[in-house]
Amino acid sequence: ALGYHKVVEENRNLYNMVQDLKGNIRVYCRIRPIFNAEAKNVIDHIGDDGSLVVVDPLKPQKDKRKIFQFNHVFGPTATQYDVFRETRPLVRSVMDGYNVCIFAYGQTGSGKTHTMCGPAGGLANELGINYLAVNDLFQLSDERKDIIEYRFQVQMVEIYNEQFIWIQKQQTNSFYATQYTYIPSVDFLTTNKLEIRSCASDDSLVLPDATMCPVKSTTDVINLMKHGEGNRAVGSTAINNRSSRSHSVLTVHVHGEDVSGSILRSCLHLVDLAGSERVDKSEVTGDGLKEAQHINKSLACLGDVIAALAQKNSHIPYRNSKLTLLLQNALGGNAKTLMFAHVNPEGDSFGETMSTLKFAQRVSTVELGAARANKESAEVLELKAQIDNLKKALANKE
Ligand code: ADP
Ligand code: MG
Repeated sequence: ALGYHKVVEENRNLYNMVQDLKGNIRVYCRIRPIFNAEAKNVIDHIGDDGSLVVVDPLKPQKDKRKIFQFNHVFGPTATQYDVFRETRPLVRSVMDGYNVCIFAYGQTGSGKTHTMCGPAGGLANELGINYLAVNDLFQLSDERKDIIEYRFQVQMVEIYNEQFIWIQKQQTNSFYATQYTYIPSVDFLTTNKLEIRSCASDDSLVLPDATMCPVKSTTDVINLMKHGEGNRAVGSTAINNRSSRSHSVLTVHVHGEDVSGSILRSCLHLVDLAGSERVDKSEVTGDGLKEAQHINKSLACLGDVIAALAQKNSHIPYRNSKLTLLLQNALGGNAKTLMFAHVNPEGDSFGETMSTLKFAQRVSTVELGAARANKESAEVLELKAQIDNLKKALANKE
């Protein structure tokens, strides 16, 4: 059996190396179906090679067409599983110690929530990436149970008006009896009621422990997701009367220990961003305007971070928005990032479609170094423990 495991392990390492060579920022574009039968289609051509040609309905001349290039383009007939098949390798690498961030970008109504969660109360084959990914993690954990023992914890966070909102456990005695409470509008960066830790190793932000929920099955995660989704802030705008005005982040923290005592730690962020539409078009005023500005701030910061990474700047402005702060450890050099750029192909949306595609094109040109797994051997862990003990002994003497 050990020989078999060795082959599996070697294949996996080889596989991750190939993945790493492909680069660690990927951009997929997904075009949703046309719902308005009268609408003109802005999509001129979808290539097998990830190319996309769009045409302005007001300037349909051939020489006015715009060409984009992504890692993959999913047309309106692509199924949830078609999408997941191309996403699965990234999800699986989380189990080998890589930090992964998958985010859905696009204007309201373009299909972000459809891709990440699936339609509300959807059929079994319509479930989104969140569900399929989590399910895959548990399946892999089961397959590898003789060589690695995995533990999972989940955090569900919403960013609304540049404030973190999260689901918190009320009781801690038994996981299955746990009640989750929704705590609105608490900005824990300006309140001292909750503690924030900064991981010394990679300087990533860790939300308070209280928001971490141990999970043992896909069902546990779905229950959490349902609870969180029901609580997501929704407001009305001229574009869509139930448009999501907040960013929603589901993070799965993975901890694994193999037979030799090596420990791996990684996380998978699954992000459903707020609509990327411009403020003027939504005609929002008052509170609505404040929301839109904050949303744009977080999205603009995401763009700035990506641009800084692309230019290999020494300073990456993660701290300029809550979103980039939260995703910091999965947007940097040693993580893998996948962006889904969502497109509503109807003619009326041409302007928004162009800004989505331009943003996505900018993201896809980012080149980073090879991703790195967060894995430490038993020897290193042992040495670290010895150093910690010596430090403690020294502190006691003083
Ligand atoms: P967003 O989250 O970007 O605002 P939604 O995911 O809510 O958009 O999608 C808007 C509507 O379009 C929903 O009714 C959704 O079910 C539908 N939809 C989106 N993408 C697809 C798709 N690929 N296939 C079928 N229906 C889709
Ligand atoms: Mg949505």
